[in-house]
Amino acid sequence: MASSTPGADVNYPVIHKTRSAADAEPNLDNYEATCANFDWASIRAELDGLPGDQGINIAYEAIDRHVSKGLGDKIALRWLGKDGTALEYSFDALRRQTNRFANLLQALGVGPGDRVFVLCTRIPELYIAALGTLKHRAVFCPLFSAFGPEPIAERVNAGEGRVLVTTRKLYEKKIAPYRETMPNLEFVLLVDEAGGKSELPGTRDLLALMEAASEEYVIGPTGPEDMALLHFTSGTTGKPKGAVHVHQAVMMHYMTGKYALDLHEDDLFWCTADPGWVTGTSYGIIAPLLHGVTMLVDEPDFDGPRWYNILQQQEVTVWYTAPTAIRMLMKLGTDLAQQYHFPRLRFVASVGEPLNPEAVVWGQEALGLPIHDNWWQTETGGIMIANLPVLDIRPGSMGRPLPGVEATIVRHLEGGGIEEISEPDEEGELALKPGWPSMFRSYLHNEERYSRCFVDGWYLTEDLAKRDADGYFWFVGRADDVIKSAGHLIGPFEVESALIEHPAVAEAGVIGVPEQTLGQMVKAFVSLNPGYTPSEALRRELLGYARKRLGAAVAPKEIAFEDKLPKTRSGKIMRRLLKARETGETLRDISTLED
Ligand code: ATP
Ligand code: MG
Repeated sequence: MASSTPGADVNYPVIHKTRSAADAEPNLDNYEATCANFDWASIRAELDGLPGDQGINIAYEAIDRHVSKGLGDKIALRWLGKDGTALEYSFDALRRQTNRFANLLQALGVGPGDRVFVLCTRIPELYIAALGTLKHRAVFCPLFSAFGPEPIAERVNAGEGRVLVTTRKLYEKKIAPYRETMPNLEFVLLVDEAGGKSELPGTRDLLALMEAASEEYVIGPTGPEDMALLHFTSGTTGKPKGAVHVHQAVMMHYMTGKYALDLHEDDLFWCTADPGWVTGTSYGIIAPLLHGVTMLVDEPDFDGPRWYNILQQQEVTVWYTAPTAIRMLMKLGTDLAQQYHFPRLRFVASVGEPLNPEAVVWGQEALGLPIHDNWWQTETGGIMIANLPVLDIRPGSMGRPLPGVEATIVRHLEGGGIEEISEPDEEGELALKPGWPSMFRSYLHNEERYSRCFVDGWYLTEDLAKRDADGYFWFVGRADDVIKSAGHLIGPFEVESALIEHPAVAEAGVIGVPEQTLGQMVKAFVSLNPGYTPSEALRRELLGYARKRLGAAVAPKEIAFEDKLPKTRSGKIMRRLLKARETGETLRDISTLED
């Protein structure tokens, strides 16, 4: 199954793809040929466009297109509530509900281009509001339900939100007392968690409005460049930025659902990301529906045994999750996973943070499948680089660019400008050639910051990476997080991955701390697996272990134990917070910090 190949981490051989007879034919069977012959027009031709040549609309492609092809009765959304209830919506039910939502926006006088914010836990209304908003050509602006009042108001104001869809509880706690700080907000549409009517002053009852609205709605002409989505970034490196996406992004959602997630008609697809983050919208709403598959939504947050149960009982076939969740499952032990069976699971992918090679391989043991890492950003709107289903997996690598995506590594020149690095395995900044349909069209209210992203015809990602001789990309670290110690450039990911290979370590966050002789000293913060307690002996053992694995120049000089590492609400380790704590600096924006 495995052999060593140059470019792969020495400890983690390449995982060659083998297919069993039961596997579906992969959508992408020849990577090189598909890339060479790729053009966006042929992807566009696989979508329908609005009837009468009225343009392209994300929600039409996701829902109505399937109904018009006779798939109306197929289950589009299977929803699992935290209290054990389950609900199913067919494509036709979703069509009618989203039509009602579009009609009620119309009745309120909300027009194309207006911003509709949604602050909800993962309830069905969130999905209906998202797609109904897109049908009405208003802009869907998701907010993560765990945000506090300040980050909510800040985002609603930045987006000049006219409408907010939220629940009664969230409204009472996070909106009502701050309502006057959101001057553009005209309509608050409330969902009562208990299923009743919400008659709070200054709000409208969503259920009542839905009931009064017609089930038929004709989507108006939608231009490819019409604004569709406003997503705020995770705030890992600083103040979250508002990235604007347009309707033709749908081509990217479709293409990546097809090639990177290998979606097939009869799949049961589960994306664990919340729509408050771009993954939860691009792949937790849009891409699966575009492919006419049944998508699963689980209302509660992470719960290891519940998740294993869902994977087993619901017979999930394609699963999209994140490194933080995988590391939490790993912490619960492989034994727990092995109590369950996942015979229909055929593909597992991860995004959001670097996926440690150990986690890729753990998937094989625990789930019966390796985990396919992929890379993208809020700004890119869709998956850009992936361990594609058809390619061999190189554990620790992000994979190769999707068809239609041109990626490279650049170095910055002294006098300004950049130059492509052609030699393999050299570190530089990861850059992408603009032109893919889901590229962000602006940072809200920050044209200057937006234009700084583009240099000499490339979009600069602010991530450092290298490319091996076979075209696989390897993540090194965020430009902000890379450590310069005694003349070496050290990527935190490499050090963190080595540390979590030690049986005691569950998670690791590595930063550079200012130090006189070295410039920066490598310091690691680690949380431990159950059964291990912090001690001087363990600290020394870990220091020695890292030195042996990484060499003295790269290994941490200091290790601190933490119960829990600071993370963004989307589950990313916040190294800037660890750094600020070390240097006594005050932090700029912690609106996305987990409780
Ligand atoms: P902000 O831009 O506000 O600091 P953020 O960059 O974390 O936050 P996102 O757009 O949610 O916001 O995340 C994109 C970033 O996440 C990438 O630029 C990269 O640093 C990291 N990332 C995503 N996937 C991967 C991956 N597979 N491997 C390594 N890093 C990844
Ligand atoms: Mg970013």
